[in-house]
Amino acid sequence: MSNTRGKIIVVGAGIAGLSTAWALTRRGFAVEVFEQGPIPNPRATSYDEHRITRHAYGSLEGYAYLMPRAFALYEAMFRDIGARHFAPGSVVYFLRDAVDWYEPVSRSLTALGKGYRDIPLAKVPDLFPMIETKGLMRVVETEEGGMLFPIRILTDLTVWLGNQGVVFHSDARVSDIDPEAGTLHANGQTHRADRIVIAAGAWVNKLTPVVADAVVPSRQAVMYLAPPPELVKAWNEVPVLIDLGSESGTYTLPPKMGTRLKVGDHVFTRSGDADGDRIATEADVARLNKAARLAYRDFDRYQVLEKKICFYTVTRDHSEEFQVKPWGDKAWVVSACSGHGFKLGPLIGDGVAAAIAGEMSDADTVRLTAGRMSHAEAQALG
Ligand SMILES: Cc1cc2nc3c(=O)[nH]c(=O)nc-3n(C[C@H](O)[C@H](O)[C@H](O)COP(=O)(O)OP(=O)(O)OC[C@H]3O[C@@H](n4cnc5c(N)ncnc54)[C@H](O)[C@@H]3O)c2cc1C
Repeated sequence: MSNTRGKIIVVGAGIAGLSTAWALTRRGFAVEVFEQGPIPNPRATSYDEHRITRHAYGSLEGYAYLMPRAFALYEAMFRDIGARHFAPGSVVYFLRDAVDWYEPVSRSLTALGKGYRDIPLAKVPDLFPMIETKGLMRVVETEEGGMLFPIRILTDLTVWLGNQGVVFHSDARVSDIDPEAGTLHANGQTHRADRIVIAAGAWVNKLTPVVADAVVPSRQAVMYLAPPPELVKAWNEVPVLIDLGSESGTYTLPPKMGTRLKVGDHVFTRSGDADGDRIATEADVARLNKAARLAYRDFDRYQVLEKKICFYTVTRDHSEEFQVKPWGDKAWVVSACSGHGFKLGPLIGDGVAAAIAGEMSDADTVRLTAGRMSHAEAQALG
């Protein structure tokens, strides 16, 4: 493919930046990627062993309707990179309080034609011997989700992009972006492009004021675990498990295809600096431990293999909408929010590339990425 449509600089080599580079490259743009660290960067939010993908979106129904397209774009990306870094499976939800989840999920999954079913509480101890049944009100299994493998995706995508002629600048921290001139500074030099896409994750507010009122970094802890010996087999067989309570809750990825058992919690700290230390203290993991003890029997018998600090970028207003906005004449800001940025990465990148290519209006791209399209509009996108 000849690169004749103009030069685009992408700042940030996480899933948002690399997906945007992928979608632009497929459209014939010449792309350069600037990343402040190595590529992929272990300090990036995207850098982890696994991420959940699913159609069930709770009260964020607009995103549920985008999921068929998000899955399809991942398949297109997997075809390009020549590897399907995805373990399909169901996702099982354990509802402990009256959370606003079942009704919107039931509505959106029915509209999408995706299967879901209740699991009788009496069957839980046999099917999920690790689960704490105290306080459980309902268990729902949803089909057609699974686990994505981010480190492998980022690595293979970087290789593919490089082979397509994308220029990578690693250890190149960008500053002084001028969204009208299309210029930026990195490593003592000024670079110019027809468009600049800022996909800087939890560092975004250091580069642009555009989304500063809307998003904030959030320091979170996750733990990688070895289960008690009698539960190893059961953990190897279960799908992704999500525990939903009104005040706490956990998400747990089972060991699959060489990854470790991982548990995280849903409550955002809305504090911290992504440039700061990444040492997980007792205080960092205290809330996670509390939530995990509510979700799992004998949780204190699990061996902690690693405690890890990572950063979400979350909305200040709890809406969890992606903040994707044009900035000046020549820049776009892409902030992939909270717990759904990985599964939607290619969809968001494709939306921004479509706007830059003139295939979609800026306003529609903003609405698409904010999950504000109706089911019919999302279907019309293909
Ligand atoms: C614990 C945890 C669990 C999650 N679970 C899920 C899940 O199950 N499913 C899901 O879909 N999503 C999940 N997410 C969310 C998802 O991982 C993120 O939304 C997504 O990875 C964000 O990608 P990004 O590209 O925007 O940011 P990042 O991956 O952080 O990439 C931004 C990049 O920009 C670079 N950068 C920043 N500033 C500069 C600069 N000035 N110059 C050059 N480079 C710069 C950074 O070094 C970084 O590499 C989870 C997030 C966390 C923290």
